[in-house]
Amino acid sequence: MAEADGSLNPYLRAREAFRDAVERLGLEPAVYEILKQPLRFLEVAVPVVRDDGSLAVFTGYRSQHNDALGPTKGGLRFHPSVTADEVRALSMWMTVKSALLGLPYGGGKGGIAVDVDTLSEREIERLSREYIRAVSLIIGPEKDIPAPDVSTNPQIMAWMVDEYSRIRGENTFGLITGKPLVIGGSPGRLEATGRGLIHATRALAREMGLAFEGATVAVQGFGNVGSVAALLASRAGARVVAVSDKEGGLYRAQGLDLDRLLAYKRDHRRLAGFPEAEPITNAQLLELPVDILIPAALENQITAENAPRIQARIVAEGANGPTTPEADRILFDKGVMVLPDVLGNAGGVTVSYFEWVQNQTRYYWTETEVNERLETFMTRAMTAMHRMHARYGVPLRQAAYLVATARVAEAMRVRGWLK
Ligand code: GLU
Repeated sequence: MAEADGSLNPYLRAREAFRDAVERLGLEPAVYEILKQPLRFLEVAVPVVRDDGSLAVFTGYRSQHNDALGPTKGGLRFHPSVTADEVRALSMWMTVKSALLGLPYGGGKGGIAVDVDTLSEREIERLSREYIRAVSLIIGPEKDIPAPDVSTNPQIMAWMVDEYSRIRGENTFGLITGKPLVIGGSPGRLEATGRGLIHATRALAREMGLAFEGATVAVQGFGNVGSVAALLASRAGARVVAVSDKEGGLYRAQGLDLDRLLAYKRDHRRLAGFPEAEPITNAQLLELPVDILIPAALENQITAENAPRIQARIVAEGANGPTTPEADRILFDKGVMVLPDVLGNAGGVTVSYFEWVQNQTRYYWTETEVNERLETFMTRAMTAMHRMHARYGVPLRQAAYLVATARVAEAMRVRGWLK
């Protein structure tokens, strides 16, 4: 069973992936001993005064996995299922992502266990400010740089950078990325993850001899990643036949009209009820006979249970950790190509890096410059991953870990951490 071998616990999965990489690369065991857990992990109680005057206390976390390559970097999620182990794992995946993309960062991640749908706008602001107060000592533009993730957005980043700037007594825009443009956000950041994902997926399809134009696509998750990926896939000529949000999905064999769907989602804040499509469940969406499946929601969506029924030729991971290791093996045996999350969704952190560079230098780029550089970074990382894939004969995910682990190990070695 998947539960019994721990493959559904993302922290154990992340550890296992590093162990495999260290062994395969023949590195000293000390590399694994350092990488198997975060260097620093903080759990905080976040008190929030509710609008009715009562007090609610939420649990928050910030994990700093490894900073050998630079300050730790990674998003901050607000979700009821957030746990300490999940945040640990997500920070480990950020180490891999940053190293693979060649960014001068280590991996970090934060989260608060909260259902934002139960909070008012003012309560979300107080929660965001209190969280920053609680973790302010360990974050900073040269220490650890948060960013948006599941259910957090530019407005939340704005409150957070404001709170930190008040604590410090100086504007510190480089603290956090994914900010609104007017206070140092970067053009192209909002779309960066979805854009990078479609860029990488098209490159992989090309290599497999699969025409992207006319290819059928199903997208699970219609947040910042899934909605942009669906839109850009359809703009690039693919036929997006299914999308979903947490309530369920929509299917239309002839392809969905993404512009109308986005307008509907904006007005109704949900997909359900959109005319011109049939309702389907999230489980059904994953098993549709499509060329490309894009899981862009949460972890553990493709498991040993449903992997045998996946019909896509490419699984392009927009979410972090949507495929369990057992499912990975099943897909590999079936000949399904998995574009791993650590590359597939790395467009977000890459443009976060560009945003931070712009903040630190106070010189701002055009959207064209951002998008061109994003493409350069993604292409370079794909080349490095493919080289490892060919050299070691391993799936793309393992290849990505090999590239990243070798880089982090080298940084730790020259810094004298390994003796
Ligand atoms: N939360 C995003 C991720 O998982 C972006 C992180 C960032 O921009 O620092 O990659």
